[in-house]
Amino acid sequence: MTNRLEFNVFTAPAKALVGERPRPFGEPFAFDAGTSTLIYGEYDAVLVDAFHTTAEAAALADWVALHHRNLTTIYITHGHLDHYFGLTVLLDRFPTARAIATPGTVAEIRAADPDMTRVLLGLLPGQVVPNITAPQPYDNDTITLEGRELRIIEQGRTDFPHSTSLHVPSIDLVVAGDVLYNKCHMYVGETTADSRDNWIAALDRLAALQPKYAVAGHKKTGEPDTPDAIAQSQNYLRHFSRLQRSGLSDQELFDEMGERFPDWVSHQSWLMFGFS
Ligand SMILES: [Zn+2]
Repeated sequence: MTNRLEFNVFTAPAKALVGERPRPFGEPFAFDAGTSTLIYGEYDAVLVDAFHTTAEAAALADWVALHHRNLTTIYITHGHLDHYFGLTVLLDRFPTARAIATPGTVAEIRAADPDMTRVLLGLLPGQVVPNITAPQPYDNDTITLEGRELRIIEQGRTDFPHSTSLHVPSIDLVVAGDVLYNKCHMYVGETTADSRDNWIAALDRLAALQPKYAVAGHKKTGEPDTPDAIAQSQNYLRHFSRLQRSGLSDQELFDEMGERFPDWVSHQSWLMFGFS
């Protein structure tokens, strides 16, 4: 076992959404840029997350193919649709790959509210495959790639319940899923003060691994995948919690976060307040 693993990150840019913003302020209605990470050895590869639209998943499949590795596994970090709706396209291209997620994530996907899913699909009309494929439950906490361990870290509720991250100790890599954001406004729209505390603890768990590389689920395009994003994400959550306690109006809270984090992308009201 002398070969080492390598990784490569694909960022799908932000995309316009159709319809009205849930609050009448902020940038034009759009969905933030997301990442998918390929971890590979000499022959085999594991892909982490599978994107949202058909176009993104098709571009991702082409990019994966350029690596000339056998894609054995697609691991889905959590049950948000922008991380697994592209699975159907990926599995068409790589039919021998298995698509897996933790039992908690699979349960979240199966329990998704069909009305909410319809609302979210309506924001990207005709851009998402009609036949969505869910990942299979995976009971083990380790995925093996050419003899090296990819360790699944259960993170509890961060921007979604049953979030996970993946740690690859042999190359000091963390693929954080949506536990980590990198200079992109964070999806606090479904959080509470308690769940933000859990989220901060989840980020502490990543920091304790002392990774050399940390890939965020959502990032400002072109930002390096460095672990300083961990403390920045914690600052963001703490600042949001502080402001929320101070009784500001939604717009004041939104504007204050924009002023405190001026170089962060996707200043979207839905990220802060959800879709309702
Ligand atoms: Zn996401």
